[in-house]
Amino acid sequence: PGPDGVSGDEITRLAERHLVQPWPVSGSIGAEARGRIDAGEGIYVTDAAGRRLIDGPAGMWCVNAGHRNRELAEVMAAQAMELSYNSPWYTTNVPSALLSARLAGHAPEGVDHVFYTTGGSSAVETALRFMQFSNNVKGRPEKKLIVSRQGGYHGSTYLAASLNGRPRDHDWMDSAGDLVVKLTCPDPFRRPEGTTVEAFCDFLVEEFRQMIEARGAERIGAFIAEPVMASGGVIVPPDDYLKRMRKLCRDNDILFIADEVVTAFGRLGHVFASQDVFGIDPDMITFAKGVTSGYFPLGGVMIAGRLFEELRRSNHSDAMFAHGLTYSSHPVGCAVALKNLDILEGGLLEHARAVSDHFQKSLKALEDLPLVGEVRGLGLMACVECVADRVSNNPLALDIEVGKRIDRHCQELGLLVRPLIHMCVMSPPLTITAAQIDDMAAILRKGI
Ligand code: PLP
Repeated sequence: PGPDGVSGDEITRLAERHLVQPWPVSGSIGAEARGRIDAGEGIYVTDAAGRRLIDGPAGMWCVNAGHRNRELAEVMAAQAMELSYNSPWYTTNVPSALLSARLAGHAPEGVDHVFYTTGGSSAVETALRFMQFSNNVKGRPEKKLIVSRQGGYHGSTYLAASLNGRPRDHDWMDSAGDLVVKLTCPDPFRRPEGTTVEAFCDFLVEEFRQMIEARGAERIGAFIAEPVMASGGVIVPPDDYLKRMRKLCRDNDILFIADEVVTAFGRLGHVFASQDVFGIDPDMITFAKGVTSGYFPLGGVMIAGRLFEELRRSNHSDAMFAHGLTYSSHPVGCAVALKNLDILEGGLLEHARAVSDHFQKSLKALEDLPLVGEVRGLGLMACVECVADRVSNNPLALDIEVGKRIDRHCQELGLLVRPLIHMCVMSPPLTITAAQIDDMAAILRKGI
């Protein structure tokens, strides 16, 4: 039974009747209710049938501190009682000021300003609009092209979605195609046959260099990249790829935007991964999800202070950046994020780093299964990629629903996975223990 005496069946019926979920197909829009979850605790959730399942994807890569964290819930309630909202246009508030300083302390040197949004898409949108605005103000309105990569995912608002690199996401959707150019996905597993990873990396960097030459640096405003591509299948790029792409951006006055919506807040063992894991210093870093462990919809963009100084020195220092969200700098969201940072700094980052080796090794062991082509990952994110056979590594010859079928079997055994066509993505709450990792890997093995 649900709350207020409404039966569980009735709740599912209400959802089917009135709720539209993300990524529906036209035949079922507003007419289906996918797997209902009723409760969560730690790394587990409970579904409508009362089954306790390991939350393999931590919701959508976001419940980093785990479910039912009392400290996060209490700080949310306390802040709502103190100040539930203030207009970010005309006023500021205590939690957003404190959080901004804390985040600046974790970001690369000089990346010390924050614009808060309501999630990842609006963070990416903000970064891009800021690039467009800056170049208008600086008198170079033609410098607007955005470079993204095949396989990348940056969100569901119009401009952010236009950057997405999975072809099927564009099959039926319009996009701002003229503004975007896409480079090859830096996936070592799918590199051309007979090529070393080093040579593949050279190719990727050279492709970008040639593209800059062909289009002209004066036309390219930004390069955006997830340090580890998440929804594209946990693609860890070749060593030095990000550093070399960063250098090309710097040499050509192209802004480097690191989309850390997934990789930040402990997923790779650090608050931000750009510098601490990959040794790069982006001009902007977008974040969301783990910033509040999913307890409150908050995102943001870290922006290098240098970019504001350039605007202050320009001939148009009165130009307005006409961009703002009602819920920018939300006091409740920022208070939750501050407490979440306390939890991360108070031991959870260290724990995530300590268990990630065991996590990667336990999943890697699944490569002995004939259906599994590769298991890859970094930190506490990993992907099991299924293939029709290990010689061709062809995923297309597989039943298209193989990920969903594995998910179904795993759910019967006590584990939620995130199916992505022929892949299963795993990114559990960072609180997961070594023994729980063993449970997860054992279920996955059986399920596959
Ligand atoms: N960027 C990345 C790397 C993401 O993975 C996502 C969502 O999964 C987004 C942006 C969009 O974030 P949101 O769904 O919060 O708008």
